[in-house]
Amino acid sequence: MATLSMTTTYRPIHQLSLPGQCPHCGAQALTGHYFQLQRETRWTLRLTDQLSRRVSCTACQRECAPATWDKALTEACQAGEQQAVRLPPFFRWKTPAKLLMAMLLLVVPLLIWAISAWTDHQLRTAISQQPQPGDRLLAMPIATDTDPEPKSTYLWLKVVQVGDLEFSLIPYAGSCTTRDDCPKPSESALQPGLRFQASREDFRKTGNNLNGQDARGAERHYFVVDFERP
Ligand SMILES: [Zn+2]
Repeated sequence: MATLSMTTTYRPIHQLSLPGQCPHCGAQALTGHYFQLQRETRWTLRLTDQLSRRVSCTACQRECAPATWDKALTEACQAGEQQAVRLPPFFRWKTPAKLLMAMLLLVVPLLIWAISAWTDHQLRTAISQQPQPGDRLLAMPIATDTDPEPKSTYLWLKVVQVGDLEFSLIPYAGSCTTRDDCPKPSESALQPGLRFQASREDFRKTGNNLNGQDARGAERHYFVVDFERP
């Protein structure tokens, strides 16, 4: 694959004169060249700590293969390697990679948000069209004749029975001031004495409004902000 292809660059870091004769022209003109390997892909650039060395003749410009080196030349060559000062290795992402990562950083949260919004919408539609016993709703009480100034808090309601025209809900004890940190209530917090009936038609039409009354005939109005189906 083209994206995986890697090029290696030899970065010169040191050179020195070496003893001995050129096997090609006989001149006493051998030079050792030292390189540090730099590897590059489409996405990354890396300077390794790997060294490479080469011996050439400055008289005939030809390269001397290691097979032709004598002991003195080999040792001088190794000494040169010790002298060579390596550049500090590094690794970095190239611009296309950085752009791609920036794009992913933008797109992934957007995608997660879109999926979550779509899931919420599906759940809200399913529950408001056809509530089922066990569904839980996070709701905000709305002013009524009997309760003109409800506390502006959220509370959980549980659907306990569903009829053709109305359905019954029971509030859980406890409330919270913001919808995002409203803990899921335990079943022991149910308050059956506050059970009320709500219109299925109103809920179905609006997707949010619970309008009804309790056993004593007191009005109950809620605006539903969150939906949960076990
Ligand atoms: Zn030569």
